[in-house]
Amino acid sequence: MTARVLVVDDILANVKLLEAKLTAEYFEVITAMNGADALELAQRNQPDIVLLDVMMPGMDGFEVCRRLKSSPQTMHIPVVMVTALDQPSDRVQGLDAGADDFLTKPVNDVALFARVKSLVRLKMLTDELRSRAATSETMGLLEDITEDPSVSQPPGRILLVDDPDGSGERIVSTLEDDHSIEVFDDPQQALFAAAENDWEMIIVNLNLSNYDGLRLCSQLRSLERTRAHPILVLVEPDDTARLLRALDIGVHDYLLRPVDRNELKARVKTQLRKRRYAERLRSNVAQSMEMAVTDSLTGLYNRRYMEGHLGTLVNHAAKRGKAISLMVVDIDFFKAVNDNHGHDVGDEVLKEFARRIRQGIRGIDMACRLGGEEFVLVLPDTDMSLAYAIGERLRQSIAGVPFEVDKKAGPLSITISIGVSTLEQADDDPDTLIKRADKALYRAKRDGRNRVVADAA
Ligand code: GH3
Ligand code: MG
Ligand code: MG
Repeated sequence: MTARVLVVDDILANVKLLEAKLTAEYFEVITAMNGADALELAQRNQPDIVLLDVMMPGMDGFEVCRRLKSSPQTMHIPVVMVTALDQPSDRVQGLDAGADDFLTKPVNDVALFARVKSLVRLKMLTDELRSRAATSETMGLLEDITEDPSVSQPPGRILLVDDPDGSGERIVSTLEDDHSIEVFDDPQQALFAAAENDWEMIIVNLNLSNYDGLRLCSQLRSLERTRAHPILVLVEPDDTARLLRALDIGVHDYLLRPVDRNELKARVKTQLRKRRYAERLRSNVAQSMEMAVTDSLTGLYNRRYMEGHLGTLVNHAAKRGKAISLMVVDIDFFKAVNDNHGHDVGDEVLKEFARRIRQGIRGIDMACRLGGEEFVLVLPDTDMSLAYAIGERLRQSIAGVPFEVDKKAGPLSITISIGVSTLEQADDDPDTLIKRADKALYRAKRDGRNRVVADAA
């Protein structure tokens, strides 16, 4: 695996040591010796992982981590805090700052490569999803999928597999205030249950008395239902060999026993946050693929696409106090075009109409064919008076130039009627916007067609 690693430490000898170890394993290494340089390099060079010293003069590692994790350009890059202080309180402080893991100085080679590889592997999966979701970014959708560590999260649904006399009770009592947690002492039963239930995260004691905890982890990894679940394992401090096997299998995180309560809380919180981020990315990608379907005749978005996205766009605007307007557009007396010149000529008129509409709106506007000769245009960041003006311009672009789509039919005079509505209250939803625009359209038709009517609320 090749990956770009950013090593940050204020002491040159430490930087050189890590650089040498990583380079020997064919990682690409870039280095920084203070927080400000680290932030700049992370932003500019987009490393796959950051190894971050905690104690540095000026901006310390916690602060650097917080800043990395709160910037949309760097929040997805895993951060490993490298600390000389092996104190649980430091770990917790780091996890609160959004750190993904810890290494203790002097850095143990096996632990270093295991952690780096496992985090990089995870990042590559997320990167793939991010890049596919990025096509939705123009719609302002990805902005809602942030991974802000400071935002409080709903309770998690957690499965714990532990012996009856294991550390289970301590873990339950630590987590049950914030999460719903269910305990199984039979690993086989746990596996069946995991395949059927909707848990978000699984905690496994690696030292189960009559079952191989590693085997359970690998079974959980291979089940469709649980493949993406974060697994947190509990290990004895001297059991490095099993820990490394577990990391190889793909468990996400571990805790040494006896379990520190605060560290447990923090690690669970981090894993749940990441899992939910990945889930949102995944469903966003799936949603876009399913709905990014255009109408084949006109090339405009279809009704399903609009229904899928209009809600998000309206919510987005309402939450940020921004304007958004909507138009319902209908071709006047279109039936007569079909009746007089045939259905094929009607189709050509629809195509030419769509071409003119596309030309008359911005890239961020969404033009959809609802069906037949009825269209909806969604205009983000557009208030009523601007929307009205755009509607008027579109009306003229249709009525002003005859449609020359068929030699035999000759130039055709086509006109459209438009009803406009705009977001007025934060609780307006797509339905009310469409209804109001429809009402305005009805008035445009009633008052003689070839006109734009604004919904007068
Ligand atoms: P109004 O001004 O009241 O909107 O009158 P209109 O004739 O445009 O409205 P009406 O709803 O009576 O007729 C719409 C016509 O659009 C009827 C239907 O045959 C035609 N139409 C719907 N979809 C298509 C299509 O895909 N291609 C063609 N050529 N015609 C279509
Ligand atoms: Mg230092
Ligand atoms: Mg019509």
